[in-house]
Amino acid sequence: MLNMRHGSATDVGRLRSENQDSMYVAAGLCLVADGMGGQPAGDVASKLAIAELSGLAEQLPIALPALEAVIQRANDRLLAEGRQDPHRRGMGTTLAGLAVVEDDRWAVINIGDSRVYRYADGQLAQLTVDHSAVQQLVDAGLLDARAALRHPRRNVVTRSLGTEPPPVPDIALRDPVVGERFLVCSDGLTNELSDAGIAALLEEAADPQQAADQLVEQAVAAGGRDNVTVIVVQLDSIG
Ligand code: MN
Repeated sequence: MLNMRHGSATDVGRLRSENQDSMYVAAGLCLVADGMGGQPAGDVASKLAIAELSGLAEQLPIALPALEAVIQRANDRLLAEGRQDPHRRGMGTTLAGLAVVEDDRWAVINIGDSRVYRYADGQLAQLTVDHSAVQQLVDAGLLDARAALRHPRRNVVTRSLGTEPPPVPDIALRDPVVGERFLVCSDGLTNELSDAGIAALLEEAADPQQAADQLVEQAVAAGGRDNVTVIVVQLDSIG
């Protein structure tokens, strides 16, 4: 049994008229989805994906095949809705999250460019790899991480929910460590704050809710050019 606390916050930011990020937060299942496809489809896509995935909260700890199946179901549902309604055609969403799976391990889940980080022992580590055009350039050695933040194609996602053929999710398993903190967030956070800034906030915040509130507040203060969504999880004890 993993005993954890969590906090969450979201903000539309300073430029966008609506918040197309969606999230689900419960002990053992924390998910962020960043919708794409213009208004209102992006909002619909992220909400649909979260609605589909949130049913997993009834099945904790989650069996891996069930997790994979529900991700495929969410993809099918987005495609089906897109076929029925021309305003929703082509809609999609990222999905990033942290879930407790069988044997009380963490599953770190990613499709797209939302992210999961881990903070422990003073170190911030990005656990997910973006599925994005700029990440491919970074991987090829053609772009460094700083230049990636300003690249004109920085919003181009190479894997998302709502596509045919269906996206293959990255699912990485890890053993829990007491005291570790996780951050699940949309790119509206990471495009505004540096890793050092994020690490400092995760270090200093008294509890996960305060950390989430402060991260979102600072991202909006730094420009708020996109919707910002943050979930912070802290593992307090095991047993
Ligand atoms: Mn975004």
